[in-house]
Amino acid sequence: MSYHCSECDVNWHADQADQGRCPTCGGGVAVRGPETAGYDADILYRIAHDEAATCDAYARFELYYDERDLDVASPEGESQ
Ligand SMILES: [Zn+2]
Repeated sequence: MSYHCSECDVNWHADQADQGRCPTCGGGVAVRGPETAGYDADILYRIAHDEAATCDAYARFELYYDERDLDVASPEGESQ
């Protein structure tokens, strides 16, 4: 059994779309009978998660520096 996203035209494994959402576009997926997931599902799933991890890393990075900026006084002595 697989889950099909009509937006991406990908058949996902059940565990890849267990939230009922497409890992790539976040849209809803429909159960698609006995068809097995496509070869591209594994690759696309990994890409989608890599991108999510990358975005998360950037978010943490920015948050880290935002927090630090609050503690650091503005540079002085640069009048005008
Ligand atoms: Zn999709």
